Amino acid sequence: MVAIDERGYYGEFGGAYIPEMLHPNVEELRENYLNIMQSDDFQQEFRLLLKDYVGRPSPLYFAKRLSERYHTRVFLKREDLMHTGAHKINNTIGQILLAKRLNKKRIIAETGAGQHGVATATVCALMGLECIVYMGRVDMERQAPNVARMRMLGAEVRPALSGSQTLKDATNEAIRDWINNPDNTYYIIGSVVGPHPYPDLVARFQSVISEEMKIQLLEQTGSENPAAIVACVGGGSNAAGAFYHYLNAPNVRLIAVEAAGKGVYSGHSAATSVLGTKGIIHGSRTLLMQTEDGQIVEPYSISAGLDYPGIGPLHAHLIATGRAEAVSITDDEALSAAFLLARIEGIIPALETAHALAALETLRFQESDVVVVNLSGRGDKDLAAYIDHLT
Ligand SMILES: *Cc1c(COP(=O)(O)O)cnc(C)c1O
Repeated sequence: MVAIDERGYYGEFGGAYIPEMLHPNVEELRENYLNIMQSDDFQQEFRLLLKDYVGRPSPLYFAKRLSERYHTRVFLKREDLMHTGAHKINNTIGQILLAKRLNKKRIIAETGAGQHGVATATVCALMGLECIVYMGRVDMERQAPNVARMRMLGAEVRPALSGSQTLKDATNEAIRDWINNPDNTYYIIGSVVGPHPYPDLVARFQSVISEEMKIQLLEQTGSENPAAIVACVGGGSNAAGAFYHYLNAPNVRLIAVEAAGKGVYSGHSAATSVLGTKGIIHGSRTLLMQTEDGQIVEPYSISAGLDYPGIGPLHAHLIATGRAEAVSITDDEALSAAFLLARIEGIIPALETAHALAALETLRFQESDVVVVNLSGRGDKDLAAYIDHLT
């Protein structure tokens, strides 16, 4: 059985390793999240927004030409068609409703590429709540269109000026803010990372993906269970959502695809399951890329969403126990997969998602197998990178 325990562990991974000053905030959330999320009133509001605002259920599309190419039956779970262009909105809708029920009036978030920042700014506008997004100054320059989007949605984007001025520095600033504003502020984390209960609550919000998949697969193939589910893993939230209702179905292969950047051992990679060792990052015990004396190694990937030095504790557990298989995909392999999907299916995927698609090149399936790829997001945001590689 794969399940989280009372203290927030999946096997040996997880928990809540936080400074004493954060205890009241995290404890308040831990004590209340399950009751709130399971209440009828919450479920009604969450489900209605997923349907009418986000556009759920997302289609499960049988990709005929992709299937012919890989000699197996490939289905795409179309999170790219959801509002704001990716799965991230499922989580921010859920957390904003939690924040409201905890009477928080001020929302903070951290963002790297800006995708989680945009999804957070979106739900704050929807609910009329103050929104402050911390973002490394370097990332603000690299991701200027997302900074503009957040501002248009009414959020304040605050630059993180310390360290390398990227995601981990933005995370530190957000945590500092939360410590200083414990009563009125809710911190929306963007993936299945962070101290317990965040990995669990984010996985539950994203689990709508596999909930729908089961119904759609039964309708379209006659069985709820596919042979395999393939998803890319940055922190791991889209994969957690796609795997969730199959965690305890051992005949369904779960395939987690990481970014190998310029090559797993090139020194420019984010292949945490291969390069990572046990340690603590952002409040939980998991696998992370670190030096022997515990300094975090800067990750690299062409895709900003996979450019993270850790993985969520659920995935560390799934990989360590053999329940999930990890595949590493380079920048070049991801780019090829993105161009292939564009040209044979007419769908331009996000660069993150392209890693999951590229795994089809290396995996082997039977012709009768049903393989679901979680199409986590669309590629509009990555056009600049694609244009650089157009041939
Ligand atoms: C952010 C992002 C990811 C990576 O985040 P996870 O938490 O691992 O899902 C993957 N795909 C897209 C489109 C994203 O925006």
